[in-house]
Amino acid sequence: MASMMTARWAGEQTRREWLPRMAAGDAVAAFCLTEPEAGSDAASITMTARRSGEGYLLDGIKRWITGGQIADLLLVFARTERGPTALLVEADRAGIERIPIDDMLGTRASLLAEVRFRDCWVPRSAVIATEGAGLLVATTALDLGRYSVACGCVGILQACLDACVSYTAKRSQGGAVLREHQLVRRLISEMVAQLSAERLLCRHAGELKDQGDPATVTATCIAKYVAASSAVRVAGDAVQLLGAHGCSTSASVSRYFRDAKIMEIIEGSTQIQQLMIAEDAYRRGVDELLPVVGGRSAA
Ligand SMILES: Cc1cc2nc3c(=O)[nH]c(=O)nc-3n(C[C@H](O)[C@H](O)[C@H](O)COP(=O)(O)OP(=O)(O)OC[C@H]3O[C@@H](n4cnc5c(N)ncnc54)[C@H](O)[C@@H]3O)c2cc1C
Repeated sequence: MASMMTARWAGEQTRREWLPRMAAGDAVAAFCLTEPEAGSDAASITMTARRSGEGYLLDGIKRWITGGQIADLLLVFARTERGPTALLVEADRAGIERIPIDDMLGTRASLLAEVRFRDCWVPRSAVIATEGAGLLVATTALDLGRYSVACGCVGILQACLDACVSYTAKRSQGGAVLREHQLVRRLISEMVAQLSAERLLCRHAGELKDQGDPATVTATCIAKYVAASSAVRVAGDAVQLLGAHGCSTSASVSRYFRDAKIMEIIEGSTQIQQLMIAEDAYRRGVDELLPVVGGRSAA
C-alpha cells in the first residue's frame, strides 16, 4: 500500500530514493492511518502536522500499525490546516517512538506497533499528493489493501479445505472414516463452493483493476466482504472437523481461524464494506452496477 502510493504520488527524488529499496525488500514501509479514537471513521483522525519553518511538526498517536516494529518508512496521515494529508516519514526521525503490540488474536507475525509522534519535524517534501488530499490517498491505498486481504482469504479457504480433506480421509469414528459421514461431506462441499465463488470474485475485481475500471472499487469491497465472512465460517468448520486436534494452538487450522477473524476487521470491517456496497448500489442504480456484478447473464 505504501509503495504503490509512493510510486503514484511522491516526488521524483523520494521515488528514486525509496522505491528500488522497497521493491528489493531492503526497506519496509508501514501504513499509519488508524488512531486510538479513529478507526473505521478515518476522516476523524486528530494527529496534526503543523507548519514549522520549511516543514511540519507531527504530533499524535497511530495504533495497530502492521510492520510498525520494523518499518523504515511510514506513510502517515495527519491533519494540516487544509485537512487530512499524507506524509512519507523516515522512521528513524527524532520524535518517533514505537511500542510493540504482541498480544493480538491473529496475524501474529505482523509485527504490530503503536507509533507515537511528538514534535517530530519533517520537511515539506514529506507531503505526497497535495496538502488536504490525504483521504484520497488513504482510500486509494485501502482499495489495494482490501484486494490483498480478499486474496489472502482465498488462501485461508484453500488451506482449510486441504487440511480437512486430508484429515477426514484418515481419522475414523463410528466405524467409518470421517469422510464417509454425510454431515462431514456437507461441510467439505460448502468449503469447495465458498472457495470457488471467492476465487471468481477476486479474479473479477482484479480484471477490473487491470482495466483501470472504477467499478473495481465496489467489486473489491464485495470480494473482501464475502471472502472474510466465508473465511471465518470455513475456518470455524475446519477447527470443528479436526476436533480437539484442531483446537491446539499449534494446529494450522486454529491459526487460520484466528487470522480469518482479523480479516473481517482490517482494511474496512465487514460492516463498512456492507455500507459501501449498498451506497454504490443506490448511487449508481442497478444498470450502472452491471460491471461490478459481472454483467447481466444471458440466461
Ligand atoms: C491485525 C491488525 C492489523 C492492522 N494494521 C493496520 C495498519 O497497518 N495500519 C492502520 O492504519 N491500521 C491497522 N489496523 C487497524 C484497523 O484498520 C482498524 O482496526 C479498523 O479500521 C477498524 O477500526 P477499529 O478497530 O477502531 O474499530 P471501530 O471503527 O471502532 O469499529 C468497531 C465496530 O463497530 C463497527 N462500526 C464502525 N463504524 C460503523 C458504522 N458506521 N456502521 C456500522 N458499524 C460500524 C465496526 O464494523 C466494528 O465492528 C490493524 C488492525 C488489526 C487488528
